[in-house]
Formats: sequence, structure tokens, C-alpha cells
Amino acid sequence: MPKLNENFLKLEKNYLFINIAKKINAFKQANPDADIIRMGIGDVTLPIAPVVVDAMKKACDEMGVKETFKGYEDSGAGYDFLKNAVSGYYKSFGADISPDEIRINDGAKSDCGNIVDIFGDDNIILVTDPAYPVYVDSNLMSGRKVIYADSNEENGFSAMPDYNVHADIIYLCSPNNPTGSVYTREQLAIWIDYAKKNNAVIIYDSAYEAFITDTNIPRSIFCVEGAKEVAIEMCSLSKTAGFTGMRCGYTVIPDALKVTATDGTEVSLSQIWGRRQGSKFNGVSYPVQRGAEAVFTEEGLKQIHENIAYYQENARIISDTMKKLNVKFTGGVNSPYIWFKCPCGMGSWEFFDTMLEKIAVVGTPGAGFGKNGEGWFRLTAFGDRQRTIEAMERFEKLVNELNK
Ligand code: PLP
Repeated sequence: MPKLNENFLKLEKNYLFINIAKKINAFKQANPDADIIRMGIGDVTLPIAPVVVDAMKKACDEMGVKETFKGYEDSGAGYDFLKNAVSGYYKSFGADISPDEIRINDGAKSDCGNIVDIFGDDNIILVTDPAYPVYVDSNLMSGRKVIYADSNEENGFSAMPDYNVHADIIYLCSPNNPTGSVYTREQLAIWIDYAKKNNAVIIYDSAYEAFITDTNIPRSIFCVEGAKEVAIEMCSLSKTAGFTGMRCGYTVIPDALKVTATDGTEVSLSQIWGRRQGSKFNGVSYPVQRGAEAVFTEEGLKQIHENIAYYQENARIISDTMKKLNVKFTGGVNSPYIWFKCPCGMGSWEFFDTMLEKIAVVGTPGAGFGKNGEGWFRLTAFGDRQRTIEAMERFEKLVNELNK
């Protein structure tokens, strides 16, 4: 009989959003006529930009012609045309990343989860809590020790390092999912310093960088000095350009990022990751990569920013409601997430049930993202405008009623 990887038994039985889906289904069965507004899962709702659709159609046509048909991509790391486009995009906000330091993937989730393959199991992993579940889950699956840096109300949900505690691998996410908080340049410089003092590597998730409007906030950790010696960055077109159903992202491992093996040799992490991907990943489809390339053209950037502006306006509507009701929150600017304190001291799941039962609005309980999420709640700005307005009208009535 095969032996199970029993680390899986240490995980929560279901992924957070499966538990939420179960609750919604039970509510639907009991209330078939309820008009449910979903502001839970962080999925986009606007269609792909026309310039991207055109590029993909053209690429599909090429696939149907002998002379331009493409099979496996040689390297599996992405076509040069896309790596050059991503490199140009990085340069546009002040990060000097060469095309060779970029690998194209099928979205940030895969690489965030798979990167653990290249690190030994005895590393100490530091995750800011609350966090996007993949960082913790993928490390627990391989039996690693995970420690936490608290993101909480006191520090504005921007955890900073404790120099008395050692970690080997650090996960940071900015703009943060779920809290919507962002790290400043100065805060990132401290994390880079901590990583250097601990010989640690930072895995930096910038999946929401396109939502940053404040020009003082870095769009990439590579906008901050010294990051190239300590950081790997993962980003994706999922939220930038509505690619959640298309699957395309990119990971940057700078040439300067090296670790020392036990025999004393200096090893390039980019080379090791390339080796891992070479064995386990065969690249992203050609039409999707052509679509991704179109995102980074002048017209592509214009079109995707129209969509982002739409979501940002939703975020403003949600934030304004929180301000009006004196509900404490973070996010809403530089982020599509609004992270608020549950009214009347309610717990996260208690508030989830109350919102669902009383106003048929679905959000995500903060407790699902870690212990510091208890008592907090996440709403997303990725919905339809009218439905967002309607949800906030219902929310206002609910909070006023609870405060009576
Ligand atoms: N990173 C963060 C912080 C996310 O919230 C998400 C998706 O919600 C991802 C990565 C993964 O995105 P994808 O795999 O679609 O690129």
C-alpha cells in the first residue's frame, strides 16, 4: 500500500473557498429566491481587453498554418517577445530586470506553491499573518516549520521583522491579499536588511501591483535597493489584465540571487529553478503568451487601465461606506480589497453568517487567512458596479440595525 504524505493531514480539511461555497449552497437551498451578491472570491468580472483578444485570435490563426504552427516552446520559460515586454514593463516603474531573469508561467499560484521544491525541508518559513493561504499550505505539505509575523490593527496590517527571530524564507505580499495594505519603500528596505542579516530569501508576491496609484509605493520589490541579492518576485496578469481564466504570470529570479550549498559551492537560484521547471513544466500556450504580450503595448495598457479604474471606483464606493459608518478598514486604495473590522465585536464567521442571512451578501471571513484575521472581514471590488452599490446599501442598513 502506498504511504500517504501525512503532512496533508495537518492542513485544514477544505480550502477556505470550498467552505464558503458550502455555506452559500445551504443558504440557497433554504432561500431559493434570495438575491445573493457575491463579494467574496477575488475573481475579476470584466472581459479581456479587445487588443488582447485580437492578439490571441491572430495567434490561433498562426497555429492553424503549417509555416507558423508552434509545438513545445524550446525553453518552457516563455517566448522572448513576452519576456522582453515584461522587462520593459518593469523598467517603466523603475525596476531594472533583464528578460533572462524572467520566466513565464501559468499564473502566480503555481509558482508560489511550487517554489518550495528548490528549498530544503529544514528551512524556517516566515509568513505574515493573515496571508494568502498558498504560502502556508505549500510549506505545511512538505513538512516545514512555519512561523508568523503578526499583521494587525496596531501595525496597520503591515507586519515588520523581529530581528530576534531567525527565518530562512520569508513570504511578503504587497498590495496585500487579504488586508489591502501596502509596504512602503522604507519598510521593504527593512525587510531586505533583515533578509541579508539572516541569509534569507524573500518571496515577494506582487499580484496586485497594477492597483497601486500612490507613486511613492513601490510596484516591485526590485524598485528597492539591495533586493536583487535576496528576493524572488512573483506576479501575474490575473488581476492586472483579467487573465484568471487565461492563466499567465511571471516569476523574476535575479542573476544576483545565490545561495551556498552545504559543500560550499555558490548556487544560482535561477539556475536551480530553471532545472526544476525543465523537468516539471512545459510552458504556457502560444496564443496566451501573444495575448499577454499585447497587454504591455501602449494600447493594451490603456485598455487594461480602464478596467482597473472601474474596480478602483468600486473600491472607493465600498471605502466610502465604511467611512460613513465609522467602520475601521484598511485597503481600498492601492488595492482591490477592503479589509474591515466586523461590527459590534463579532467574529469573522459570525459576521459572515449574519451578512448572508440578513442581507444575502457574501464576503470572506478574515479568520480564514490566519489567526490575526479573526474579527476582520474581506470584501472585493471586482464586482459589477450596480451590484456593489446595492450591496453597500444593504450593508449600511445592516450595520445601522446592529448598532441600535
Ligand atoms: N497571489 C495572490 C496574493 C493572490 O491573491 C492570487 C489570486 O487570487 C494569486 C497570487 C494567484 O493568482 P493567479 O494564479 O491567478 O496568477
